[in-house]
Amino acid sequence: MNSTTYNDNPYCQLFLKQQVRQLKVGTVPYHYRIGQLKRLKKAIELTFRDQIIEALRKDLNKPKLETELTEIYPIISEIKFAKSNLAHWMQKQKVDSPLSMLGSSSYYIYEPKGVCLIISPWNFPFNLTFGPLVSAIAAGNSVIIKPSEMTSNSSALMAEIVKIVFPEDEVALVEGEVETSNKLLQLPFNHIFFTGSPNVGKIVMSAAAKHLASVTLELGGKSPTVIDNTANIDKAAKRIVWGKFLNAGQICVSPDYVLIEESIKTKFVNACKKWIEHYYTTNPTESDSYARIVTKKHFERLQSYLENAKSLDANIEVGGDFEADSRYISPTIVSNLKEETTLLKEEIFGPILPIVTYNSLDEAIAYVNSKERPLALYIYSKNKRNIKKIVKNTRAGGTCINHNVIHYANHNLPFGGVNNSGIGKSHGFFGFKAFSNQRAVVKQHTFGINELLFPPYTNLKEKIARLTVKWF
Ligand code: NAD
Repeated sequence: MNSTTYNDNPYCQLFLKQQVRQLKVGTVPYHYRIGQLKRLKKAIELTFRDQIIEALRKDLNKPKLETELTEIYPIISEIKFAKSNLAHWMQKQKVDSPLSMLGSSSYYIYEPKGVCLIISPWNFPFNLTFGPLVSAIAAGNSVIIKPSEMTSNSSALMAEIVKIVFPEDEVALVEGEVETSNKLLQLPFNHIFFTGSPNVGKIVMSAAAKHLASVTLELGGKSPTVIDNTANIDKAAKRIVWGKFLNAGQICVSPDYVLIEESIKTKFVNACKKWIEHYYTTNPTESDSYARIVTKKHFERLQSYLENAKSLDANIEVGGDFEADSRYISPTIVSNLKEETTLLKEEIFGPILPIVTYNSLDEAIAYVNSKERPLALYIYSKNKRNIKKIVKNTRAGGTCINHNVIHYANHNLPFGGVNNSGIGKSHGFFGFKAFSNQRAVVKQHTFGINELLFPPYTNLKEKIARLTVKWF
């Protein structure tokens, strides 16, 4: 990078330091990467565990158990998975060569992309910052991280962890607001891994285009849940209520809305009421298991969504209670919604579950396909033909059948969206791959048969070329 071009950028020097290290080290060796992963694991699992729990309690009133399961566990298991598989992932991959390349052998290697930028959101601040970092380190990169300004306690703690665990030319964390993101996005990163909203995803992608940096965009949107009349309604409600109200609905893969066959709607709503009371008591505001909305702005956004639905004659089936001081919104279920209602147009990202009814499966599929491609699509059914039909006739980043959210937890599966819900995949090998360049290598051992066709071209060579096209 020509440093004078970015002289007035406050992160230019940091970027240059990381770039120098990348060029110097070339490929960061296996044992070094394992050492980095071990240090990060120790910091999160032992040194800073209690502080992480406390930071998330302050930022989101996140219950301790949820912090263990949805913040600490995913990072630790991602590290363990990478440690167990990294040697295999880093191996050179031999491939066959066509007869026309007789005398050569071919393989490809995964080499680090270089200096990478990770921009993360607030809803799972640790998980969604350190998760991609694990993949970036496993792949041998240097990384600058920009976490969300909305969860300031978590961001400050992550900055401390990064400072203690890594030298600045390997991994650095920069705190700040949108302006900080914009400054970082001016720099010629080799790869940008962004988790956040589709609108900001577009800004990130256009900034990346200036340097032709590759991107992984982990975005959001409206994830539908289709329930047909063969589904076990009680089990569906048990799982949907869990997936929807976990972290007070502030999850990218939470079921955004339910599409249910008209005849079973009332039964489903009653089952949801039962499970809400079971998980959070009849007064969730006093429950230790229920989180709060991240900021006043998001609280007011959700409140306005519900007001809009009410003004369009929606039915509040469950909840609908708001407490501004504590940013509490009770688990809420709404039905009888008009299509123009904000709840059916915008990603909700909060504890409000709209119910939309349908009369035929084709109608449900057409409804899903009339919207942007979702990050997740969930199906509750016992009918194999219906399940197959929904999967085949829709597109989504991921799907759970008779459950929700949990596909996120399997490191053997690619995680990510499609179009509006994301570009590229993460987790396990897919995360390693996102941060690697697959470099193709051909080695010529002996006389190459293709040399027979080098110029000057003759009639005989033309004939051989034709035979090559035909036979090889
Ligand atoms: P966001 O897009 O507002 O912010 C994400 C990050 O981008 C933050 O660090 C923020 O500082 C930065 N940012 C915000 N505006 C910017 C701008 N104009 N220019 C440059 N940078 C900017 O998202 P959020 O509110 O933090 O998170 C919620 C969204 O993220 C939801 O849409 C949700 O579905 C999505 N999400 C997706 C995943 C996933 O894995 N696919 C996970 C969590 C959240």
